Amino acid sequence: MKKSLPENIDLLSQFDPEVADAIKLELLRQNENIELIASENIVSASVLAAAGSILTNKYAEGYPARRYYGGCQHVDTIENLAIERAKQLFDAEHANVQAHSGSQANMAVYFAMLKPGDTVLGMNLGHGGHLTHGSPVNISGSYFNFIPYGLSPETECLDYEVIRRLAAEIRPKLIVAGASAYPRKIDFEIFGEIAKEYNAYLMVDMAHIAGLVAVGLHQSPVPYADFVTSTTQKTLRGPRGGLVLCKEEFATKIDKAIFPGTQGGPLMHIIAAKAVCFKEALTPKFTEYQKKVVKNAEMLADELTKLGFNLVSGGTDNHLMLINLKNMKITGKEMETRLGEVNITVNKNTIPNDEESPFVTSGIRIGTPAVTTRGFDESAMRQIAKWLFLGATDFDDSRAQIVCEVKELCDEYPLF
Ligand code: PLP
Repeated sequence: MKKSLPENIDLLSQFDPEVADAIKLELLRQNENIELIASENIVSASVLAAAGSILTNKYAEGYPARRYYGGCQHVDTIENLAIERAKQLFDAEHANVQAHSGSQANMAVYFAMLKPGDTVLGMNLGHGGHLTHGSPVNISGSYFNFIPYGLSPETECLDYEVIRRLAAEIRPKLIVAGASAYPRKIDFEIFGEIAKEYNAYLMVDMAHIAGLVAVGLHQSPVPYADFVTSTTQKTLRGPRGGLVLCKEEFATKIDKAIFPGTQGGPLMHIIAAKAVCFKEALTPKFTEYQKKVVKNAEMLADELTKLGFNLVSGGTDNHLMLINLKNMKITGKEMETRLGEVNITVNKNTIPNDEESPFVTSGIRIGTPAVTTRGFDESAMRQIAKWLFLGATDFDDSRAQIVCEVKELCDEYPLF
């Protein structure tokens, strides 16, 4: 792919130079930037080939052997492969691989199991949950009665007793576990117990940690949850897309909720790329990769702490960390901008009980999946921590030097 990717773009350039030029610039940006956005990754040549394939031409509403269109024999093979591999990877009874995205996967579970107005317990967006876990600006929060749970003010971790008490009080029909910005392990067994005690369904959204779950570096939610949703593009390192796993008893409901419930034709090129991603995730190399992701995150968190940064909950046990920047006297927005100027990409992020607006924030979220794919090791983590520190404390004087050093590191680990 190192050679064929630019060649493909050159083909495109002949017809549409505006789009091709923007893709070329984006390729350059990805090559010259250190990607610390915790939800991003860099796919393999095989995943990219499937995602960019002629399968995009095919309509295939329905499911394998039960389609509403002719000519589906080959896409049936592909979807069956994706389903079987997803089931094998996560030891799940049923897999639906058609959700266009993580948000669509979550919507399908809600559509399958809830009626408008039903009460649901979900993690507060401001404490690390996702928009689709009941934010008022999302369809989840406007159609259903989501009651948020948050982090303990003392430990900045989930407090399962508080969640249990909340469930006892509000008697939710569904409990949603999982997060977008939570640096600690989540105990899905306890969530399962709470759901059983109060006769609620349990949905775990493992979008961020799916890669870790796949290789056993995080407890799997599959034995404890009625529904497990995910994206395939984050730690799992596949195409942008969604996935729903469930117990066999809910299989028909979930399939119907995806199609025709909330989607039309599946994206067969993306389903093929998911199949490839699951195959990669079943290899020993993928386990090694995930171990490095976690090790790099641990190393980065240690280095940042030594330099005086405050990490929410005091550290990380997964692929991401949240830096509380208050003691550095800088907002998340300003830190994101400064790091952007030296070619380090992060996202501003609220910290628990943040006084700043979501557009400003008091924190940033960073993660190691993409840099680990690129091959960055422990010494790179040390350098990154140093650049973040200089970015926060001595930006004007160190900017030029950081730009040079970032370029050197990126040149050492080219994307293509
Ligand atoms: N669930 C969680 C926990 C997420 O972090 C995200 C994305 O950031 C999603 C769902 C939504 O995924 P998508 O952007 O594919 O809709």
